[in-house]
Amino acid sequence: MASNAQCLFCRIASGDIPAKKLFEDDAVVAFHDVNPQAPTHVLVIPRAHIPSLDDMTDADADVIGTTILRVTKIARELHLETDGYRVIINNGVAAGQTVFHIHFHLLGGRSFGWPPG
Ligand code: AMP
Ligand code: ZN
Repeated sequence: MASNAQCLFCRIASGDIPAKKLFEDDAVVAFHDVNPQAPTHVLVIPRAHIPSLDDMTDADADVIGTTILRVTKIARELHLETDGYRVIINNGVAAGQTVFHIHFHLLGGRSFGWPPG
């Protein structure tokens, strides 16, 4: 899906809106969450504007797979893999999704309870 000029995360990906980016390549952008819920809280997004998991098609499988690989690369670079880390997608309003551009929350640096709230 093409970029969406109304979408906050598309605008961060393009550089139109500033963010504390720590990684970007042709397909994926990662930046620090503005309201961190853990010592490390990074958002990892595909550049493609896919609003939610429910909007994915088979054509998006590669880019989402690549996005997950970048999550693990960033986690390694931040040395989170030794203790472990949590990766979350809030999908839909009831799950707490507020920005409708698929994003993986990468959280680390503390312990996490289960089940999540
Ligand atoms: P979600 O609620 O799962 O849709 O996650 C959206 C996340 O985006 C929240 O954790 C927000 O704190 C974060 N967020 C909102 N605006 C910005 C921004 N301008 N820069 C970085 N993170 C943001
Ligand atoms: Zn978008």
